[in-house]
Amino acid sequence: MRVDLQDKIAVVTGGSSGIGLETARLLLDCGARVAICGRDAARLETARTELVSRSADDRVLAVTCDVLNGDDLTAFADAVADTFGGLDILVNNAGKGRLSTFAATTDQDWTEELELKFFGVIRPTRAFLPLLERSSAGAIVCVNALLALQPEPHMVATSAARAGLLNLTRSLAGEFAPKGIRVNSILLGLVDSGQWRRRYEAAPEAATQSYDDWAAKLAASKGIPLGRLGHPAEAARAIVFLASPAASYTTGASIDVSGGLARHVG
Ligand code: NDP
Repeated sequence: MRVDLQDKIAVVTGGSSGIGLETARLLLDCGARVAICGRDAARLETARTELVSRSADDRVLAVTCDVLNGDDLTAFADAVADTFGGLDILVNNAGKGRLSTFAATTDQDWTEELELKFFGVIRPTRAFLPLLERSSAGAIVCVNALLALQPEPHMVATSAARAGLLNLTRSLAGEFAPKGIRVNSILLGLVDSGQWRRRYEAAPEAATQSYDDWAAKLAASKGIPLGRLGHPAEAARAIVFLASPAASYTTGASIDVSGGLARHVG
């Protein structure tokens, strides 16, 4: 099977690092034109330069945008419409996890986490919906976590928010199906990305252990059956499949990308 996205236009929120950047690379390789966003302008420009070098200047758009900021999103959607003239694929990827137990999570922490996980999807979806409605192959993919179905006590707020997002994804799939827009998600376990690099750099073990050794120990301590963290490319392939016409009869679904970490049945 060949995933052909010639003539397709895609937006990847949080496309300047990790899974989002890898997804942008793969979308470009499949023929799509791609717009990415992030808050850090320097990191975004580095990503844009790299993406342009593997495709062409007129196939990549990078806009500084906080997905929680409605004005930023309006400007981002306008820029996509002006530059590419439409939109077929929205990948809601921007975000990060929060490490904290119930005892350590304040009301403010809960508010911030719920805002990021919900409005980080709600606001981009609202901003880009008018463009997606004009597509003949509209698709939204939400990057979610296995935590949605298998909560972890040390990520209590993220787990609860992820479960809510999975529920929301189903609702959006039902509401948007008559418009021809499919909505799906991927459920990640632990994927080697900027987030994990930053956690390693902040850990005391960074002084004595290489990142690779630290990541291998992390995978072993979590009991990941496939024995390692996932690669961003493995997440990107699932995202691009769901976003593409190859998944044309799939909506309201989720793909597990956790290396077998899922213990739940059904
Ligand atoms: P990275 O830190 O490598 O990338 C995160 C990206 O999101 C960056 O481009 C970052 O750019 C952007 N971003 C974060 N917050 C915002 C915001 N408010 N507005 C716009 N852009 C934002 O992390 P990953 O690639 O690992 O994470 C991608 C997604 O996958 C996240 O939603 C994460 O929660 C999820 N996930 C990851 C897992 C993993 O193990 N890696 C596990 C489960 C879920 P900038 O900071 O410049 O804004």
